[in-house]
Amino acid sequence: MIKNYIVILACFVMTAACQPTVRKIGTPVAEPAEATVSDAAVADAIKAIGTETPGSNADLIEKGVRHAASLWRTSDGTPEDFVKFCSENYIADPAKKEASFIRFSEYLESLYGHFNKLSLDMQENVQLQKGDVLPIDPMFAAYNPGAHLMNDFYDNKIAFIIALNFPYYSTEEKNISGPNWTPLEWGYARLGDVFSSRVPSDLVQRQSKVMAEGDAYIADYNIYMGNLLNDSNEKLFPENMVLLSHWNLRDEIKANYANKETGFRKQALIYKVMERIVDQSIPKMVINSGNQDWNPLTNEVFVSGTKTEAEAETDGRYQQILNNFHVFQALDAYNPAMPTAIQRAFSAGMQIPQPEVQKLFNEFLSSPQVQDVAAIIKKRLGRELSPWDIWYDGFKARSSISEEKLNAITEKKYPNAQALEADLGNLLLKLGFTKEKANFLASRIAVDPARGSGHAWGASMKAEKAHLRTRIPATGMNYKGYNIAIHEFGHNVEQTISLNDVPYYMINGVPNTAFTEALAFVFQERDLFLLNMKDSNPEKEYLKTLDIFWSLYEIMGVSMVDMKMWQWLYANPAATATELRDAVTEISKDVWNTYYAPVFGQKDQTVLGIYSHMINSPMYLPNYAFGHLIHFQLEEHFKTHEFAPEVLRMYALGQLTPNEWMKQAVGAPLSNEAILKAAETAVAKLK
Ligand SMILES: [Zn+2]
Repeated sequence: MIKNYIVILACFVMTAACQPTVRKIGTPVAEPAEATVSDAAVADAIKAIGTETPGSNADLIEKGVRHAASLWRTSDGTPEDFVKFCSENYIADPAKKEASFIRFSEYLESLYGHFNKLSLDMQENVQLQKGDVLPIDPMFAAYNPGAHLMNDFYDNKIAFIIALNFPYYSTEEKNISGPNWTPLEWGYARLGDVFSSRVPSDLVQRQSKVMAEGDAYIADYNIYMGNLLNDSNEKLFPENMVLLSHWNLRDEIKANYANKETGFRKQALIYKVMERIVDQSIPKMVINSGNQDWNPLTNEVFVSGTKTEAEAETDGRYQQILNNFHVFQALDAYNPAMPTAIQRAFSAGMQIPQPEVQKLFNEFLSSPQVQDVAAIIKKRLGRELSPWDIWYDGFKARSSISEEKLNAITEKKYPNAQALEADLGNLLLKLGFTKEKANFLASRIAVDPARGSGHAWGASMKAEKAHLRTRIPATGMNYKGYNIAIHEFGHNVEQTISLNDVPYYMINGVPNTAFTEALAFVFQERDLFLLNMKDSNPEKEYLKTLDIFWSLYEIMGVSMVDMKMWQWLYANPAATATELRDAVTEISKDVWNTYYAPVFGQKDQTVLGIYSHMINSPMYLPNYAFGHLIHFQLEEHFKTHEFAPEVLRMYALGQLTPNEWMKQAVGAPLSNEAILKAAETAVAKLK
């Protein structure tokens, strides 16, 4: 898990991950943004700059003027004011432009860096083990000190100077021109990302409200498992078991692979519950309530043993999604460069155009390796596949070293946070970093005792440290905690390199979250090595590969449903919740029939529509797949390249586009090739 790693982007690009929620907000109108600068005024401004600065690049002038005009509102001035503003503020001289860019970078580093530091301070009492949480602590933790920065910069016109001189380039444009850009030109383009949209604050608030409602809807969607009946009127689950949809339901399916007696029957019952959530035939009264018994197979409800008429939820789930769509659609008019939520989630948030994501997923889902891995699962299960086996959990390899032994080692080695902090340099030396680099990186990472399971929170200015938050019990760090801490350490190393070693501050960071996740996985894989230990179970690596392969097969399928649902919404903007429900049912079946039916031998399953992310994190699901794709591409590269120098080189590339980063890092664009190849090897070994 990472926190705030991409503070800068997340602030300005309204990504799904930022703030998911929806409430009933009435009619789905996209409020038109006022186009206050006419084409004639734009032409005048271009002409005025041309006269003022003869010989300058006409295309660049036009791009800057058009971009600034798209953000200008009546309150900013008259069209004449706009023309005057452009001719007075255009920086034609390359040396002056570079000097201005450096100044902007310095100011923004100070602002972002301090806002990030303020957020860290405001949240410290809630997140760290620092005694009782007082009632005021969560209030400060929820406060965002930098919330008004963007509006302020439109008011004082700094935003327009940047928009005019450092115009916005779409991801598609960056992918085309980027290969020829110098780091300085990448810096210009990233500065151009800062002011790409201008959303009125009431709309931002409306979006927050809608997303908060989605969160609340999801948070209260519990199934009382002790009240579930099967066809023999048996209750298979413990009386007080309450599971949150969909995460806990899915995890309970996973947990029951180890249960040889009732596991299969329990899984089948959970699966039926999921189907009823997707098609909304689930009785409303059984959601978040244990006051009645419910047989998901027949859909009968019993109160005190007596059969009761129970109204179905009908469309609650899809109304939430529709509310999301309406508020996201209302933002379209204020994002001239990315006028659909799909473009904003993919081209801006993930920085991979949506068609490319779909193409990559299609390739993976259709790969012959899927059938090979499925055959191994069938063999291990000793039965034909059931649809819920998309969550097959039997590739977990037993380690050759006992957990007790590992706990004893980590508890002794890391009795507290300070002990881990003091050891970071040694860990880096062991990974092959030079003494100088190891010392530097270690000196930039603070280890804090977390209340939760931990996270990595990067700095946003070079003067600040990254924070590794980890939970350490009084008895010392156990192996599970250590394993997670090494994952977070990978994030911190990425955060530190990609802030301090990039050529320009404006390109600090990585293209998207998957890139930091990949290095975290790479570190996590080496956790035993860092303890001077080696697992001698020869199958472990192969099983792990297949485990990741199969989870990618699942996540890419649910991502496909999510993406196709949004495409459908944009094609049917006036749809009702009922129409949306029917569409999602059809899309889920369609994706299933294309990629899963040939493997599972059963058609028309709807379960791929079950993910709660579809409600509270619109279009975030596809992000999950990329961390592992990149992870495998990096591991493939490390087989023939020296680890530490390559980590330093790659993560100093900064925020290129994902494809450009991969090409410069490992010599090939983002692809499925490495994981498919690894799966093939694993299948051959385990057959
Ligand atoms: Zn992580």
